[in-house]
Amino acid sequence: MEQDQTDAMTVIDESAVYDAEGEPSGLEELDEAQIRVDLAAAFRLAARFDLHESVANHFSAAVSPDGKRFLCNPKWRHFSLVRASELILLDADDPSTMERPDAPDPSAWCIHGAIHQRIPTARAVLHCHPPYAAALIGLTDPTIPPLDQATARFWGRTVYDSEMGGPPDDPAEGVRVAEAIEGHSVMMMGNHGVTVVGESVAHAFEELYFLERACRTTVLALSTGRPLRPMDDDLADSVARMWTRFTDQSVAHFAEQKTLLDRDDPSYRD
Ligand SMILES: [Zn+2]
Repeated sequence: MEQDQTDAMTVIDESAVYDAEGEPSGLEELDEAQIRVDLAAAFRLAARFDLHESVANHFSAAVSPDGKRFLCNPKWRHFSLVRASELILLDADDPSTMERPDAPDPSAWCIHGAIHQRIPTARAVLHCHPPYAAALIGLTDPTIPPLDQATARFWGRTVYDSEMGGPPDDPAEGVRVAEAIEGHSVMMMGNHGVTVVGESVAHAFEELYFLERACRTTVLALSTGRPLRPMDDDLADSVARMWTRFTDQSVAHFAEQKTLLDRDDPSYRD
């Protein structure tokens, strides 16, 4: 089972962040109020899907065309309680950020600040430690094999990082993570967690949702002890590319999930 992560990844990622003329897309000034609501919804949904861990982990979304001004969750706020109005607005170029009275979690600043400072197309950045992904990233081989459509979504387009260089609140580690994920949208961070990047909160959330499902399927399949029967490389490539035609599904799914949130507790919009 061979795969060329970089080549396949380049094709898929370009379709996500560049338009038909090859120009970066999604870099226009965006509606901060709408991004606040969407990012708050992503926190609530992450809690519903058990993607969160304690009051740690962090999601962010850019609000400026250069990507450097971004929203992030307040330090140690439980994901299930996040409201749109309390998301903190940060500037990746502001070296005094951690001196603010409402400074974010240090690792949030190191990872998200470094990514937003370097990658303007990273409009939404979701970092967490979901349980099935956390299990896989502790294995010698953390690869997600193309067992079904959800697992094949990540075939040939995932960064498998095994170079964790220090604690996540070390600025050097944040820079290393940012450099490793540049040009990609999914990163399995060995001995740490996962980071996904998207052109919008909806797209990034869909990536995270399917990533944890793919990891769950992989862990469950491995747990049977029976030999795996992954797709051959050509089929896996074609299924991975199929997903690039389904970007509208990400938007629709996120809208439906917000409807479910609205039915049960719309306070994330506050
Ligand atoms: Zn982390």
